[in-house]
Amino acid sequence: MSIALRIIVDDITKLEVDAIVNAANSGLLGGGGVDGAIHRAAGPELSIACRSLGGCATGDAKITPGFNLPARHVIHTVGPVWHGGEQGEPQLLTACYHNALRLADNHDLRSIAFPAISTGVYGYPKTLAAEIAVKSVKTTMTSLRHIEDIVFCCYSDDDEAIYARQLGRSQEC
Ligand code: ADP
Repeated sequence: MSIALRIIVDDITKLEVDAIVNAANSGLLGGGGVDGAIHRAAGPELSIACRSLGGCATGDAKITPGFNLPARHVIHTVGPVWHGGEQGEPQLLTACYHNALRLADNHDLRSIAFPAISTGVYGYPKTLAAEIAVKSVKTTMTSLRHIEDIVFCCYSDDDEAIYARQLGRSQEC
């Protein structure tokens, strides 16, 4: 079965998908950026559910319901903070996409949307992060059994252009 890989510009909290991915922090206690937006839209039950998860290591992923979100689930993953790229950042960011997809697939989910993990406060250079996002998703895709639709949810037209370039390049290979 072929999997659709799409790029959109939207607010991820508005998407009606089986799971949206949250660029969380390791305490899973909410924060700014996309994390704050997801917690606000999901309502206070999300923080309560997150508290029982015992945090999340960088590169790992954990799942909760979506509560008041149109998305049925939230997959929380913790991206690396950018420290110049020599401290395992590429491997950790690769793991975020891989582990989020595997977790969604293990829960029989069909559609999933990713924000540009680590590219806000965590400072990962956007082009490098998009290259990893596309590579990791394309590599992991080959072993998924339930996922049919993967969305890169960009928050600006500039980010969309970066993803479109990376996706185009990956199709030339
Ligand atoms: P991190 O701490 O992992 O860097 P941020 O939330 O600061 O996470 O930023 C990650 C990305 O999410 C940024 O590219 C930012 O523009 C984007 N973003 C912020 N809010 C939203 C939203 N509501 N929907 C989709 N993307 C968003």
